[in-house]
Amino acid sequence: MRNDVFNKRFLRKRSESLLKTVELFFGNNNSLNSNRNEGDSMVVKIDKEACIGCGACTAVCPDMFELGSDGKAEVKSQKGKCAKEAADGCPVNAIKIS
Ligand code: SF4
Repeated sequence: MRNDVFNKRFLRKRSESLLKTVELFFGNNNSLNSNRNEGDSMVVKIDKEACIGCGACTAVCPDMFELGSDGKAEVKSQKGKCAKEAADGCPVNAIKIS
């Protein structure tokens, strides 16, 4: 009986540790944790000086990006699942995700 309790605690601790390792390796947005939005764990910013206003990010990810009155991209919402795709498509690497 005592061994059962020990084994359950050991297995729970071990699985929690394994999950933390997976999250550290893949980030919190991995497919094992698909209920989370990117916005739950990431902060998306635009480097306005670098942005050339091409609009690619708004086309790829209209829920999160829009062009402002200055003709450059702005973050419309931190919630969404396409920030990385938009960042990967930005020709001047103006989208910063942290
Ligand atoms: S894709 Fe990059 S350069 Fe183009 S509007 Fe968006 S942030 Fe600016």
